[in-house]
Amino acid sequence: MSKRSDISEFDLINDYFADMTSQREDVALGIGDDAALLRVPQGMELAVSVDTLVAGVHFFPDISPSDLGHKVLAVNLSDLAAMGAEPAWATLALTLPGVDGVWIGEFCRGFSELAAHYDLQLVGGDTTSGPLSITVQVQGLLPMGMGLTRSGAQVGDDIYVTGTLGDAALALVCKRDGEDREDMPQLLGRLDRPIPRVEAGIALRGFASSAIDISDGLAADLGHILQSSGVGASVDLDRIPLSPSVAASLQESNDWSLIIAGGDDYELCFTLPPVHRDQVASISRRIGVTMTRIGLIDAQSDLRCLLPDGSLWSPEHTGYEHFSRSDGDN
Ligand code: ADP
Ligand code: MG
Repeated sequence: MSKRSDISEFDLINDYFADMTSQREDVALGIGDDAALLRVPQGMELAVSVDTLVAGVHFFPDISPSDLGHKVLAVNLSDLAAMGAEPAWATLALTLPGVDGVWIGEFCRGFSELAAHYDLQLVGGDTTSGPLSITVQVQGLLPMGMGLTRSGAQVGDDIYVTGTLGDAALALVCKRDGEDREDMPQLLGRLDRPIPRVEAGIALRGFASSAIDISDGLAADLGHILQSSGVGASVDLDRIPLSPSVAASLQESNDWSLIIAGGDDYELCFTLPPVHRDQVASISRRIGVTMTRIGLIDAQSDLRCLLPDGSLWSPEHTGYEHFSRSDGDN
C-alpha cells in the first residue's frame, strides 16, 4: 500500500475531491472557493442533514475504505429519504490520521459510486488531520411543504417498514463474537453498505402521514414518531419482515431485541391511513422495495410490542444512545 505523507491539503483536494462527483447545473460554484453557491429551484425547499461517523464508535477501524465512503453518504441519504427529499448536494469534512493515497482513493470510490446513483454533487468540505472521523452534510430538494415529518401520525393509521430488520445488528454481533458463518458476506453488506430508501421516501410524499429512518432500532425510532405525533402504537412482532438469517437467529435465541433495538437498519418506518393500502402495494411493486404493515397507531400511550400469543414483549434497551449511562446505577 503506497503511503504519501508529503501531499499537501491543496493537492489532496485537487487530486481526490475536486472532480469526484458529477457536475449539476444547479451548482453555480462548487469546490475551490470559500463557499459553494447553489441554486434552489423556485417552489422547492431545501432539506438539510448532517451525520458524523467516528472510528471505533460507528464503524470497525478495519472497515474497507470504499465501504466507509459508501456508508457515510448512505446514512445521510437515509435521513433525506425519511423526509421524502431528492438528494442534490453534499459537503464532506474529513479528519484523517495521515495521508494514504490508496485509502483515500478507495474511500472516494465508495462515496462517488453512491453519489453517481443519485446524481449528487460534492460541492465542498474540509480536510484536517487527527483521529479518523468523517462528517457529511447532505442537501436535498422537496416541493414546498411536502416534507415527510415525524409529527403527522394519526390514530387509526397503519405502520409500515421497508425491507427487513435486524440484519446489520446480527452482523455486528457475529463480527464482535468472531463467529464465522456462511451468510456473513450478505450480513456484513447490510452493516457496511446500507441502501438508503430514497425512492421509497420520494414515492410516499403526499401519502405517508409521518416517516423516520430506522438508524437506532425500530422501537426507538418509531418511538420518536409517537412522541412527536402525540399518539401510541401496537406492533405485531410476527409481522416484522425478517431475512432468512435473522429469522433463523430468532428461532435459536428467541430474543427480539436484535430486531427491535439493534439499529443500523436504515430502512424507513412510516404511517398512513388504511385507505392508502392499495397505493402502498403499488408503490412497493413499482420501486421494487418491500413495504410491510406491522402495526397500528392508537390513542394509548407509548409503543406496545405484541408477541405471537398476544402477550406483551418489553425491550430492555430501546436503541443505541450516545452519552447514555448503561451501567444501571441511575
Ligand atoms: P478554507 O480555508 O477557505 O476553508 P479550504 O482550503 O479548507 O478552504 O478548502 C478549499 C476548497 O476545497 C473549499 O472549496 C472546500 O470546500 C474544498 N474542500 C476541502 N476539503 C474538502 C473535502 N474533504 N471534500 C470536498 N471539498 C473539500
Ligand atoms: Mg478549511
